[in-house]
Amino acid sequence: MTLWKKNWPGKAAPKSKDSPVLREIKKEIVVMRKQGEPPGKDPHSFAQYMCDLCSTPHPVSELRQCVLCGRWACEACWKDECYTCKSCSGLIKIHQLKGE
Ligand SMILES: [Zn+2]
Ligand SMILES: [Zn+2]
Repeated sequence: MTLWKKNWPGKAAPKSKDSPVLREIKKEIVVMRKQGEPPGKDPHSFAQYMCDLCSTPHPVSELRQCVLCGRWACEACWKDECYTCKSCSGLIKIHQLKGE
């Protein structure tokens, strides 16, 4: 009667790169854009795109897509330490403070 336990993942080390914290965060984050989806164009300029966080226009080379929410962030809205946008990095920090 213990056969079912064979399929139970238990405490085996997760093979995925995502930490448990990151997995929790992903459940909370609202994905605004799909990965690979281009940023929104600045309606007043042909060469610039909008930062999804502060809504200011930037050349596309200055925008980076957040891997969590999919929003495009300018340098001011980007957190290099988390490699996510400012908004998602805030969530990561909250979760890290909680411990898990
Ligand atoms: Zn911005
Ligand atoms: Zn984000």
